[in-house]
Amino acid sequence: MRSQKKVVLVFLPSESGVDGARSLYGEHELNPLFNWFNRSIRTMIKRSQFAIPPLSLMILSSLEVPGVEQSICDMRFEEFPFHQHWDLVGISVQTGMAKQAFALADKLRAAGIAVVLGGAHVTLFADSCRPHADILVLGEADDLWKELLADLAAGTLKPLYQSSSFPDLGISRPVSKQSLIKNRYFTTNLIQTGRGCQYSCDFCNVHLLNGRRLRRRAIEDVVSEVERFQQHDRRIFFFVDDSINADPLYARELFRQLTPLKIRWFGQATTTLGQQHELLETFARSGCQALLVGIESIETKSRSAHKKNQNRAGELAGAIKTIRAAGISLYGSFIYGLDGDTLDTPAAILDFINETRLDVPGINILRPTPGTQVFERLRQEGRLLFDPLDVTAYRYSFGQEMLYKPKNIPLDAFIESYSTLTRQVFSIKNAITRGFAAPRAKSAVMLFNLFYTHLYSLSRHDLRCQLETGKREKTILPYAK
Ligand code: SF4
Repeated sequence: MRSQKKVVLVFLPSESGVDGARSLYGEHELNPLFNWFNRSIRTMIKRSQFAIPPLSLMILSSLEVPGVEQSICDMRFEEFPFHQHWDLVGISVQTGMAKQAFALADKLRAAGIAVVLGGAHVTLFADSCRPHADILVLGEADDLWKELLADLAAGTLKPLYQSSSFPDLGISRPVSKQSLIKNRYFTTNLIQTGRGCQYSCDFCNVHLLNGRRLRRRAIEDVVSEVERFQQHDRRIFFFVDDSINADPLYARELFRQLTPLKIRWFGQATTTLGQQHELLETFARSGCQALLVGIESIETKSRSAHKKNQNRAGELAGAIKTIRAAGISLYGSFIYGLDGDTLDTPAAILDFINETRLDVPGINILRPTPGTQVFERLRQEGRLLFDPLDVTAYRYSFGQEMLYKPKNIPLDAFIESYSTLTRQVFSIKNAITRGFAAPRAKSAVMLFNLFYTHLYSLSRHDLRCQLETGKREKTILPYAK
């Protein structure tokens, strides 16, 4: 008889450029030279450890329950180990990759292996997941997973694990990296400091999944995790928190205590940081190299159309210049195709990037994620391009697919203007210039811009194919005539 129950937690790759350069609309139609370049870039992305570890699986695999042994299978790097014995397989399901998750779950269950599904998609669309699982976990799983593992050891598993409140992150739950293979990743020093967001942008599901109340981990827990992680991996740290500077007192104290550890770190923040001078200085002093900021739109009407009201459009450029002047590089993420956008928007985005000297621009198309307010609104307005009842059709991509009709711009004109914008923003010359101009993390900035130069060319190819196929087959894209 086996003494330990064996559990594996699975993370799936996406089918698009999100995990490397991959066409959604027929790579075979590209020319052979481009295909070869495409494959080389994909390999390079893997070799240069572009990927970061799956944080939620890191957290769950760190929970210790007597009689249970856990591991992680990251299918971006390996096949599922069917040849081994598993008592339970846990699959993290995101809506953009739900089809692949269900296919794997069905295959495992057909082979007699019990499957538990959890993650954002399962929490929002439990009914459609039930036929593919033995067990569902709904909501943040920090406490539920421990209960489930104890039930597995005792032979008393239940079909559903669901909690009525969000876990208290103030309770100490040390995270371990022992299930990760270090050299696969850009860094294994991934640390979550908090969850939740007080804002309500209608294209985002963070406030739906993690709540509007900010929940923070205890500062001493984060500091001791940094000390522990540092012993095994001296690479960069990545602090995961959608709004770390929304609680400036917490953030200032945390990074003040981290300063003596002399780490280098990346993180996320809002552009309000440009007005929080003391906190900005603390960030820079504690080793902050680069931050990801969600700019989304520089136009007031587009921001208010999507409830992005937390910082004013007119203050964005000044905030970005102030943060860069403090010696921190910025990845600024835009969304084109918002309801206030017009064909003049791309020129305004381009001017903004040039004026602020943004280090890595990310030019996204609005993605109506099923379950968000914007998805529901577009459904009611008849603007979704795939069947709203099949939410798995709304897959992730790297700006490679239109999922909806923009409000003020015909679809073909939108695709043309988006393609022109990405061609203007990303070139090898711009990548090199941005790399040298970046306040910090110069080589990472250059590398990101080089990858994006290629990935956005893939986006242009796929969008063109989608438009042509839609017109030819008169299936989706009904108004793109
Ligand atoms: S986009 Fe950012 S600020 Fe807006 S709700 Fe999501 S996490 Fe919060």
